[in-house]
Amino acid sequence: MESTRESPCPCGGAITWRKENVSVKKEMFRRLDVGLCDTCHVRYLSNDSADLVIDKLTHENKTARHRI
Ligand SMILES: [Zn+2]
Repeated sequence: MESTRESPCPCGGAITWRKENVSVKKEMFRRLDVGLCDTCHVRYLSNDSADLVIDKLTHENKTARHRI
């Protein structure tokens, strides 16, 4: 059973979190923690999920740099 987590949004609304597939810079990331505010409708990425995305994009940049 998956319980719904909520966080406060800076706007005063509530952010509801759920797992979503997200595409960042043409890379598909599966089941990231995506939060959506019910008031201002801004989308957020959890710290863990943001780290995953940054790791992958950074790694690819490094790989590209070595490919000469
Ligand atoms: Zn908000």
